[in-house]
Amino acid sequence: MSAALGLYRLQQIDTQLDHARVRLEAIRATLENDVELRAALDRAAEAEKTHQEAERAQRQAEAEVQAQKIKIEMAESSLYGGNVRNPKELQDLQHDVASLKKYFATLEDRLLESMLKTEATASTLTEARGALTRTESTRGDQTRALTSEQATLIHTLERFDSERKAATAPIDAKALEQYESLRRDKRGLAVTTVSDGACAACGTTLTPGHQQSARSSAAIARCPTCARILFAG
Ligand SMILES: [Zn+2]
Repeated sequence: MSAALGLYRLQQIDTQLDHARVRLEAIRATLENDVELRAALDRAAEAEKTHQEAERAQRQAEAEVQAQKIKIEMAESSLYGGNVRNPKELQDLQHDVASLKKYFATLEDRLLESMLKTEATASTLTEARGALTRTESTRGDQTRALTSEQATLIHTLERFDSERKAATAPIDAKALEQYESLRRDKRGLAVTTVSDGACAACGTTLTPGHQQSARSSAAIARCPTCARILFAG
C-alpha cells in the first residue's frame, strides 16, 4: 500500500469522526438549551398571576356593589317606612338615596369593567397554557429524537476509533506526524485527491509531474499551493 493511500484512508475516517463530533456537540448544546421552554413557563406564570389579580379585583367590585345596594335599601326603608315625617329630614333622606344611587351606578360600571378585564386575562391565560403544552410536547419529541441520535453517534464514534487504530498502524511515524500537523493547520483536511488534474481542496491545476508523483507509491506528494498531501487513486 502506498503511503498516500494509507493517509487517504486515515483522512476519510478522521473526516467522519470530525462530523460525528461536531454533530454530538450540537446535540449536547440543543439538549442543554431550554430557553424556549423557560420563556413559555414564565409567560404562563405571569398570565396566571395577572388573572388572579383580575379575579380579586372583580370580587372586590362585586362586594362594593353589594354593600352599596344594602345602603340604598336601608336609606329607602327609612324614607318610605313612615317613621320619618319631618319634611326637612325626608328631603335629606331623598338626597341621600339619590346620591347613593348615583354612586351605585359608578360602582356597577367599575364592576362591568373588572368583569371584562377578567375575561381578557382568562383568555390570555388559556393561550399561555396552550403554548406551554405545545412547547413541552415539541421539546419532548425533540429530546427523544436527539437522545436516540446521540446514542447512535456515540456508537459510530467507537467504531471509527477502532477503525482509526487499524488504519494508523501501517503508517510510518514521520508521515503520521506530517499528517497530524497538516490536520491542525488545514482545518482538518490534510489529504486531498487529484480531480481533473487539479487539487480537489484548493483547485490549483497540477503539472503532469505533480500528478505523476501523486500516483507514485514511493514518496508523498503535496499540493504546491495549499501544501496538502495529494492522493491520486
Ligand atoms: Zn491544493
